Amino acid sequence: MSENCLFCRIISGDIPSDKVYEDEYVCAFRDINPQAPVHVLVVPKAHIASAADVSAENSLYVARCFEAIAKIAAAEGLGNGYRVITNCGEDGGQSVMHLHFHLIGGVKLSEKII
Ligand code: AMP
Repeated sequence: MSENCLFCRIISGDIPSDKVYEDEYVCAFRDINPQAPVHVLVVPKAHIASAADVSAENSLYVARCFEAIAKIAAAEGLGNGYRVITNCGEDGGQSVMHLHFHLIGGVKLSEKII
């Protein structure tokens, strides 16, 4: 837990959120500024700053995030598909420095970058 980290404070319950999933490793809540009908942030409970900080020591949290993504997508009715995005660092457009995966869907997504 990092005292100054917004997502650590959401995980601890200090700051309220609309949680949709939680287990020992993962917390997931709705984005405050949704970009699609379903926009959930899937967050490891360990403070990993970004994708650049994933290592052999903490990668279990990342695996658990993707296990959670599959469950949340099913629960949210995204059987027809969805997109998972992580922004990394300044050039990648990351604004909250706690690793998170945007799970976006509920509509036919356009604006593919890749
Ligand atoms: P990124 O720009 O990839 O770091 O994504 C950060 C995301 O966090 C943005 O999509 C914000 O809308 C979202 N966000 C910021 N504050 C909150 C909050 N208090 N609760 C839920 N989502 C938030």
